[in-house]
Amino acid sequence: MAHHTDQKVLPKREDRLRTCHAYGGTSCALVQESRGGCLVRSERSFTQVCNCQMSLALTMVTTIPDAVIIMHAPPGCGGSNVSMDLYVRNGLNARGEKKAPLIWFTSNLDEADVIAGGEEKLEATIVEADLRFRPRLIFVVSTCTPGIIGDDIDAVAGRVRSRVAATVVPLHCEGFKTRISATGYDAVYHGLARYVQLAPHDAQRLAEESSGQALLDERRKSRRVNVFNVYSIGRSDEVELARLLELIGLEARFYPNFARPEAFTELTEASLNVSICATHDDYFLTFLEERYGIPYLIDTMPIGIRNTGRWLRAVAARFGLEEQAERVIAAEEAELERALSDYRPPLAGKRVYLGGGEMRVAATAMLMHELGCEVVGFRAHHYDEFGDDLYLTAAQDRPGMEVNVATTQTFELANLIERAQPDLYLGHSGSNAWVAKLGVPTLPIFSAPQTYLGYLGVFEVARRAVRLTANRAFQEQLRRHTRQPYRESWYRNDPFAYITDGADGAGGRP
Ligand code: SF4
Repeated sequence: MAHHTDQKVLPKREDRLRTCHAYGGTSCALVQESRGGCLVRSERSFTQVCNCQMSLALTMVTTIPDAVIIMHAPPGCGGSNVSMDLYVRNGLNARGEKKAPLIWFTSNLDEADVIAGGEEKLEATIVEADLRFRPRLIFVVSTCTPGIIGDDIDAVAGRVRSRVAATVVPLHCEGFKTRISATGYDAVYHGLARYVQLAPHDAQRLAEESSGQALLDERRKSRRVNVFNVYSIGRSDEVELARLLELIGLEARFYPNFARPEAFTELTEASLNVSICATHDDYFLTFLEERYGIPYLIDTMPIGIRNTGRWLRAVAARFGLEEQAERVIAAEEAELERALSDYRPPLAGKRVYLGGGEMRVAATAMLMHELGCEVVGFRAHHYDEFGDDLYLTAAQDRPGMEVNVATTQTFELANLIERAQPDLYLGHSGSNAWVAKLGVPTLPIFSAPQTYLGYLGVFEVARRAVRLTANRAFQEQLRRHTRQPYRESWYRNDPFAYITDGADGAGGRP
């Protein structure tokens, strides 16, 4: 069967999943509009800032050891690599790897290259990188400039193949092509699917020659599952999920972040591919099922008590391990309840607002509700069909809960927070800074050193939330001594005033 990976260039998520980037309303109405196909019309008449899909592609490939990144770009596009270096070093260290610096090049495109083309520069950069560092993989990251002038990075990879030892993997993640930055995840998986060996040679041949059933039966005996991690989970999250899976009799291996290049050749030896986050993996998991016959599971995120139980049950059901799963869940939940007894009273009734990835934010809303908090609303970077079940379940706790779909758009966030005046905000570090300046304590929804997933994650979030809400003097001082860049009139305006249904909306600026 055909898969998008058969094409040289991948589709953007607006086309593939009809992903929405602008919405303001309630959770239930959002799902209703999603199912009715109405969200495709959602637009903004004013956009403050956008994420670049290239930066999300980098969050994956920079973590892979023994690989070099080449930015086929003007020098500015590599700026975010500088901030990723520490994360990558710490992530490698946590996984027992040598704490190596991130190695990246830029082909340094300039005005002359925009006229004459940058393929020669890219070719020379690949050869130089291979010679200097002898990596196993070289990722070529295409950006807006080569995308606009029409450089063919796949052709360059083909031309240098005989001159370099590394496997060259072109990544099509030009920022201008999509407003859904999660397309960058697809871009990396597209490159891995097309250029990286994902099976031992004999397994590849068997998959191609047989119906696949015998191979599938053989794999099932191993009870090995691939768990697909994301940049926003840390090693302690992986350890927690591996612990839970081991308790029901399964062995977990984590891909693709921080997986060694040679480990990719064993990727297709698993019985099941399990996603932690639907936003991240469907592109690759459907490819692995179609090409190698490996079933996959994309369900909820294992965040919070209910969702962790649901995730474990769903995995266990694929192996007939339901009874073991029930025993593990009962024991874990009982132990967690005992551990939470001191943390529940101070959190009871605390008003919480959330912002982050589509799946994480809804699962976290359920977690905060389980801890006795009142979830006032949440905002997701984007929205697609994968959120439907989870968003409806989250809304059961509080029908009519406010939902905003916005990739950043800090002006909307400032308005929402000023109105809601929550006791706590959980969000990404970028937005947290703005919320803290509004006088609200913030808890990073993404902090790799701290556990967030599984039962241990519930305890960690509760412990940190209690500490943060106990004393907000710091945030109040911040509010007193800093200024927001918006006019006072903006806070009296509708926070969703600039979200339209495709026709021209209101003018002006907040
Ligand atoms: S949007 Fe284009 S120019 Fe800007 S960082 Fe992304 S790839 Fe580079």
